[in-house]
Amino acid sequence: MAGHIAFVGLGSNLADPCRQVSRALRALDELPHTKVLASSSLYRSAPVGFLQQPDFINAVAKLETALTPRGLLDALLGLERARGRTREFRNAPRTLDLDILLYDDLRYSEHGLTLPHPQMHLRAFVLRPLLEIAPDGAIPGVGSAEAALQGCGQQQLEVVSNE
Ligand code: ADP
Ligand code: MG
Repeated sequence: MAGHIAFVGLGSNLADPCRQVSRALRALDELPHTKVLASSSLYRSAPVGFLQQPDFINAVAKLETALTPRGLLDALLGLERARGRTREFRNAPRTLDLDILLYDDLRYSEHGLTLPHPQMHLRAFVLRPLLEIAPDGAIPGVGSAEAALQGCGQQQLEVVSNE
């Protein structure tokens, strides 16, 4: 495998979110030319932006993949669709959200794909699980994931499972 390293953020707050995220972790491992090298615990967090919705379950997975960034994104969007993901409005509740956080140390932007993920350094629910599996994690153009987490302030987050 032409081993690129990518980190993927998983999130769900509908239709049994813990199960959605656990299933998605298995589905990532079954993507073509891709294997999951590590995955974080599951974390519970309060919604941001649109507050009248259930808590979220989040996790981060470290992948080795031969897919290109666009190939990986298309595969992730396919898994979201397979879980019945719809896009009604920004920050809406969702059965499954899969984001590419990092792909090697690439900085890149084209229509519908920006790397690193443009909001990841602002989100404790991304940075905490990322740091669990990549303690020295760095965000190209931003700095260390640890420093980014320090800047996130009071975002509440709890571990729900070590699955
Ligand atoms: P969010 O994840 O911010 O809540 P969506 O999941 O609805 O929002 O994503 C909207 C669009 O963001 C996707 O259709 C995708 O094309 C785009 N996008 C841009 N960069 C990325 C990335 N690094 N990972 C995933 N999606 C991305
Ligand atoms: Mg997304």
